[in-house]
Amino acid sequence: MSTFHIWTLGCQMNQADSLKLAAGMERLGYRAVDEDTDADVVVINTCSVRQHAEDRAYSRLGVLNKRRTQGAQQKIVVMGCMVGPKTDELRKRFPYVDVWARPQQFDGILGMAADARDVSEGELGVLIQGGMRNTYGLPSGPTAYVPVIHGCDKFCTYCIVPLRRGREESRPAADILDEVRFLAAHGVREVTLLGQTVEAYGHDLPDRPDLATLFEGIDTIDGIARVRFLTSYPKDMTDRIIDAVADQPKVCEYFNIPVQSGSESMLARMRRGYTVADFEDRVARIRSRMPDAAIVTDVIVGCPGETEAEFQDTIDLLRRIQFDTVHVAAYSPRPGTFASRNLPDDVPLEVKKERLQVVETIHRESSDRINQALLGRTVQVLVEREEVGRASGRTRRGQIVHFDGTGNLGGIVDVTISQVTAWSLQGHLAGDLALSVL
Ligand code: SF4
Repeated sequence: MSTFHIWTLGCQMNQADSLKLAAGMERLGYRAVDEDTDADVVVINTCSVRQHAEDRAYSRLGVLNKRRTQGAQQKIVVMGCMVGPKTDELRKRFPYVDVWARPQQFDGILGMAADARDVSEGELGVLIQGGMRNTYGLPSGPTAYVPVIHGCDKFCTYCIVPLRRGREESRPAADILDEVRFLAAHGVREVTLLGQTVEAYGHDLPDRPDLATLFEGIDTIDGIARVRFLTSYPKDMTDRIIDAVADQPKVCEYFNIPVQSGSESMLARMRRGYTVADFEDRVARIRSRMPDAAIVTDVIVGCPGETEAEFQDTIDLLRRIQFDTVHVAAYSPRPGTFASRNLPDDVPLEVKKERLQVVETIHRESSDRINQALLGRTVQVLVEREEVGRASGRTRRGQIVHFDGTGNLGGIVDVTISQVTAWSLQGHLAGDLALSVL
């Protein structure tokens, strides 16, 4: 039997794309293997958000090429965000790659895989009709990612995503609900609805459904206990959506809303499309409806022209809002973006590193404080992993909890927290197991 291996870099959207491709390959008669040395087709699903991720892909391509010059017969595929509208340069640099595929463009890969196995054109046609619209990937555990909107229309000056993933394009609600039903029937208990700007969902569809419409639909699907959604964009986050999170019992009170900077002038240079006051207004609305909601953010330090005062504005905002988690990255120019062409990368590396550390310290202090408050308390955990007597899963607020005891995979158990650090929670099962299906 022919085999394939997919190596996935980057975000949850890439993980979802890889699972979908894997499902397509399996329908063509291929089998997934753990090691790329055993695969007839090796796929690298790439990320371009940072240079480091691209470098990792280049280095893996070097290994694959060496193996091929030593006689390996593997087909090599590069898909994902590294593949833009202009792949000519990449094709010249890596002439041994058999297929280049942009995000979500599975047809070329499946066509090559079908040729290699003599799959009939008819069978392939059925599979790729509508971009594998009804082919769903199954995760290995009880949680799954479900893309609901692809691409991004926002064009923040530093960001490569709209150039690689294209404009916003929502999936029909009926397709999404079919996929969630399929996942639930196969044991999935939690779905995370994905989009680069997930609250933009539906603006391009007839009848303009929104994220709240999807929450309502999923609420009626038996077996699904929890719903999450990523990534939020403040201007798209309507009161209706915030209220739906508060009112729908399956939807977790967890918001991932990148602020990127706390400085008005910096936000304007980033073309984020909102002010600090807009952002704080959304946070206030969330907290007025859900005082215990987890709010997580992303920050970029050292963007072109970022002054000490602008950076200080970011620090002040982080201290004011007290996020549960702050993901921080240092700016690096991505070729092709507005910033790389027009805004000089003029903050010295040393300064970027210092700012990175300041934000990380704030993040550690805040995580530590939030986790300490859980000591001795009992939380509900959806069990995602079990091995050799240990289990782990997440609370509704997204915190990872480790504890002893197996046999509850996919269940929701009560765990009493007995040890905490800034990064993890340890606990033990509280009394009788409280397995529930919500
Ligand atoms: S909202 Fe901005 S940062 Fe986020 S994906 Fe779109 S362009 Fe990139």
